Amino acid sequence: MSLDHTGKPAVAPNDLSAFWMPFTANRQFKENPRMLVASKDMHYTSADGRQILDGTAGLWCCNAGHCRPKIVEAIQRSAAELDYAPAFQMGHPAAFELANRLVDMAPDAFNHIFFTNSGSESVDTALKIALAYHRARGEGQRTRLIGREKGYHGVGFGGISVGGLVNNRRVFGTLLNGVDHLPHTYLPEENRWSKGLPEHGAWLAEDLERKIALHGADTIAAVIVEPVAGSAGVILPPKGYLEKLRAITKKHGILLIFDEVITGFGRLGTPFAADFFGVMPDMMTTAKGLTSGTVPMGAVFTTAEVHDAFMTGPEHMIELFHGYTYSGSPIACAAALATQEVYREEGLFQRTAEIAPYWEEALHSLKGTKHVIDIRNLGLIGAIELEPIAGEPTKRAFSAFLKAYEKGILIRTTGDIIAMSPPLIIGKEHVDQLVGTIKDVLEALD
Ligand code: PMP
Repeated sequence: MSLDHTGKPAVAPNDLSAFWMPFTANRQFKENPRMLVASKDMHYTSADGRQILDGTAGLWCCNAGHCRPKIVEAIQRSAAELDYAPAFQMGHPAAFELANRLVDMAPDAFNHIFFTNSGSESVDTALKIALAYHRARGEGQRTRLIGREKGYHGVGFGGISVGGLVNNRRVFGTLLNGVDHLPHTYLPEENRWSKGLPEHGAWLAEDLERKIALHGADTIAAVIVEPVAGSAGVILPPKGYLEKLRAITKKHGILLIFDEVITGFGRLGTPFAADFFGVMPDMMTTAKGLTSGTVPMGAVFTTAEVHDAFMTGPEHMIELFHGYTYSGSPIACAAALATQEVYREEGLFQRTAEIAPYWEEALHSLKGTKHVIDIRNLGLIGAIELEPIAGEPTKRAFSAFLKAYEKGILIRTTGDIIAMSPPLIIGKEHVDQLVGTIKDVLEALD
């Protein structure tokens, strides 16, 4: 038996107990581990040597597919040339180049970029910018934040406070004060089986007027929503809903934040959901597809109006007391620049728009499959909702996930919903394999 430096028996490197896994049923996993050891393009390789088709782009992030040589080389080069530069009164060229590149690809309104390391950090950054923006303009009483039921905005205290997923909040106590939530737009009775955007429910945005009447417009700093909610099991905005939110927020001087952590970087066939819907918020939060999941990185996009509010004090002052040690770190910037290059060279956003109708038809061909009670889709996002087992919510979808993995596809479940968001390089044969495997799995499931 080997001993560690204190003379205690050393833990075997392959012991699974030390790692407290995130967002995972640890006990279940450690009984039945699902280990991935390699990845390439559309596939993972499992520890037992099987090829697993990636139906989720990792976790909605590997939009360019896996281990793309251009991105790998850029990361290697940066690691060898400039490993780190202080994110404090110092800069390095790649961060400026990346910010310029992102501004170029974003809708015209966005011309400033604040770097973070994750979606959660992007959300908390945007919420803090919103509060400080109003204060900088002499409206410091605007402190209220408004999110939405079933919203997911990461796991920071700001993000879980404005978020509306019950399980992510309820065990953490009171959270931020002064937060309110709009109703969600999940209307199964009205919108079941709709392809693309649902017809019914734009009126739900008018609840914002009621919140404003209740609290007073001059107390509200920002409204944050996911243009398409992913983590709640894919909830699409009813036609006209986002437009209404924009009109109401604008009328009352409230900032609108789109959390584009999953929709940013091509998922809907456009660079951002703001492009897809033609609705411009005041800030967009992003992460994931920015580096195609390779190196942790996020970015907040702001308008000049938001940014410039911070640029009026004395020149030598730090204008926004906020940032992270790794904001815009050289290796992350190199990964992001190379990722954007791959998206552009391969026309992956356009390709997404082109394959989306095939994806839609393939998914909806599952109507009538055992246990399926709804199917939803937009761009390269899909959801298959299953009839829950009475008294055992989530069990059926989780069984489907385990069986699907055995049969060589990676899907994701939220409650009783199977969600998919494949890499944007997906081919029709992969779509067929995903849908065919899901059909087989569901037909065989109790
Ligand atoms: N916002 C949204 C809309 C997300 O989907 C996610 C992650 N799924 C986050 C924020 C949090 O991102 P991260 O896990 O990188 O902190």
